[in-house]
Amino acid sequence: MEKQLKKGKSDEVEAESKKSLERLLKEIHAPASLDDLWPGIQAGSVFQDLVRNWPSWGEPYRERRWEALCREMEKVAYATRPYCLRCGDCCRQGSPTLYVEDRPILRKGIITRLDLLTLRAGEIGFSNATQDLVLLPEERIKVKEKPGGRECLFLESETNGCSIYEDRPLQCRAMECWNPDNFNDLNSQIFLSRKELLNPDDPLIPIIESHTRRCAVSDLQEALSRIKKGFAAAQDEALDILFYDQHLREYLNQEQGIGPESQVFLIGRPISDLILSFGLHIADSDNGITLVQNSQTQHEAIES
Ligand code: SF4
Repeated sequence: MEKQLKKGKSDEVEAESKKSLERLLKEIHAPASLDDLWPGIQAGSVFQDLVRNWPSWGEPYRERRWEALCREMEKVAYATRPYCLRCGDCCRQGSPTLYVEDRPILRKGIITRLDLLTLRAGEIGFSNATQDLVLLPEERIKVKEKPGGRECLFLESETNGCSIYEDRPLQCRAMECWNPDNFNDLNSQIFLSRKELLNPDDPLIPIIESHTRRCAVSDLQEALSRIKKGFAAAQDEALDILFYDQHLREYLNQEQGIGPESQVFLIGRPISDLILSFGLHIADSDNGITLVQNSQTQHEAIES
């Protein structure tokens, strides 16, 4: 569609719309055929407006109107298949974020701390609602994803089934691909945080608090953005945060027997990973190590 968005032929857009609807019907295993739905789409005001005015619109407006047509086609297509197929598609696009309402699942031990990951305030996370990257205003507890992708840990790849389906988290129950508005109902829910999952007298709490103070994501981000602007002094600030985080992880591992798989819940993702997500990486230098801005290609590889 990129080509049609740049060029200006109405008939190409019409053909692409039809192909998109055909692809969508296949993807969602809709019982309706293209012939059932296409005449209705063609007669609709969004399509009529799009085809009539496409050549005179600029690219950004074309993009918005094209998205409007795609939303309409999705609505019409999903209306013919208003139920869950257990195809696993949504479970491959990201694991669920947990809400306070999910605590019973943790109490029952269906999901344990080993299955969890903490995204701390200020981190960049993937929003299942908008399917986009967002800066998190407060921490989130998420189910871990399988290495190298966004597939939920509990998705059984061979069967596409959820291994905890009867007790799946609230976000999974609200995720109805045929009814995206259902997701908005979660807006009134409260996100779960680490403090709700730890006893108030847990000896790990002071360690977590100290890590939060010494390795705040906002401080790291500030130092990294100054490095990008060429302030050499910011290297020390960022490296202090990195070294504190590394030493604490070593201490937890060696002295407390808490390995990396539990650490990502207790103190979040390693600072070295966050540095990458903010567009820099660690490189060797004459004095030890230094933080270097990624090339565009490296950045794109990390984002994808
Ligand atoms: S918990 Fe189950 S339903 Fe929810 S995303 Fe994971 S596999 Fe899918």
